[in-house]
Amino acid sequence: MFRIRRQIYLDNNATTPISEDVRRRMNYILNHYHGNPSSLYKPARNSAIILEESREIIARIINANPAEIIFTGSASEANNTILKSLSSHFFPAKNNIVSLPIEHPSVLNTLEYLQSTGIQIRMCPVDRFGFADLEQLNKLIDSNTFLVCCMFANNELGTIQDIKGIAEIAHARGIMVMSDCVQALGKTNIDVRELNMDYASFSAHKIYGPKGIGVIYVKENNPLTPLIHGGHQEKGLRAGTESVHNIAGFAAACLEVPADLENVDRIQKLKQRFIDELKKIKADIIINSPDRQCLCNTLSATFPGINNAIFMAFLDHYGIAVSAGSACNTQEDTPSHVLQTIGLTAEQARQTIRFSLSKNTKWKELKYTLDIIGDFVENRIPPVNVIMPTQLNEDLLFSDDLYIFDIRFGYDRKMLKGLPASHEGSFLRFPSYISQIPKDKNILVVCQGGYNAPVVAYSLKYKKFRKVSFLFSGLAGWKLLQPDLYHKYAGKNITRLKAGKKDEIPFT
Ligand code: PLP
Repeated sequence: MFRIRRQIYLDNNATTPISEDVRRRMNYILNHYHGNPSSLYKPARNSAIILEESREIIARIINANPAEIIFTGSASEANNTILKSLSSHFFPAKNNIVSLPIEHPSVLNTLEYLQSTGIQIRMCPVDRFGFADLEQLNKLIDSNTFLVCCMFANNELGTIQDIKGIAEIAHARGIMVMSDCVQALGKTNIDVRELNMDYASFSAHKIYGPKGIGVIYVKENNPLTPLIHGGHQEKGLRAGTESVHNIAGFAAACLEVPADLENVDRIQKLKQRFIDELKKIKADIIINSPDRQCLCNTLSATFPGINNAIFMAFLDHYGIAVSAGSACNTQEDTPSHVLQTIGLTAEQARQTIRFSLSKNTKWKELKYTLDIIGDFVENRIPPVNVIMPTQLNEDLLFSDDLYIFDIRFGYDRKMLKGLPASHEGSFLRFPSYISQIPKDKNILVVCQGGYNAPVVAYSLKYKKFRKVSFLFSGLAGWKLLQPDLYHKYAGKNITRLKAGKKDEIPFT
């Protein structure tokens, strides 16, 4: 079936495109405000004014005081700073943090690190849709708890927690509350005073602002120590020359938040219509996002019987960007911890796709997406071949007909050796290797965890390579299921392909 390909971006929880006003503001700042805000002379003072005006705008959006806003390089840094700072402030007098098992990796991995330093981490159970069990939360708290850490809205499911209720429970016992508000900003009202938060984190690139700029909200008089030491910037709480254009971009994005909140109903209705149509295409679809207390733009859906690596590669081939969960997971074959926590099996997690709409998403874009999903589900367009790790035995590995194209990243190659007689290229620049790949052979595309190879396999298939397959679950899966073959042959007779003409990205 012939379809005109379009570009549809439905991964707005990973990041959003910069809005026009933000871009204009940032260009203006880059052109006119080069001074270092810490210096004395006029251009520097002008930059310092931009910083302070931006701080005021951001504070106003969440009903904080400007003095309670600290700029960081990302929300990951903000989460690290809050958690590590409070741990060093309270530990060992108090020794535990209560949190949720579905937090973002920038919280979970920091908690894991803190655990290695002696802090106890207690996870509050969540239900089928990721809502925290407040009774259990109350029971987990004791006189040694110094922090309750609970995200406002989940990035994979969209589930919005009862932060006010959680803060009431914690404060009744004299315990501080921090909330990762990254996904909630711009999609639901956030009033840090009304919600009684002690600490919160935010990120500009989820609200149509620039990447690489985050914010810590810290309630006045609460303790905070720096993660990054150096100069006296941000009242000595975060060293490093401030990224003035990014900070101004964050503020410009915040100026759009009130209008974004008025758009929530429209996006919610679009999402519901999309769900209704998806159910017509695949009656057994499982919706993991709750239908109330959920981000208007976020939909996590499980497609029984359909592997998400193959599905996403197919959608990508037709210009549709979606994700399997959090953006951090896509290079590994580890199924989402969030989905498994809410009760999905590892297999179901591997059949799950997250669609996240933007404030600008139109029904015709969703309609096109539904058409392509229909093509896939109803097999109107044949998918690429899949080779299971157990099928990749000596006979197949060494057959004359096979050409192995290994598109792993350099750091992956250091962790695992490649298949014997494979040809190494690169995932990001794979089109530049295509002229060297023989058209008359069976092409087997291999990556580390099974998510990148299907993308390349689809591309090759539509470039008239007729016999294209990819290795399911990648080299990691093959090593796991064929350890003897791995130890006997991996790393032997590998050829490094030369990159052809590069698909350069212009600098102007
Ligand atoms: N917290 C949540 C809930 C997120 O979704 C993300 C981004 O994916 C982050 C934190 C990290 O934000 P940043 O990319 O600014 O480090």
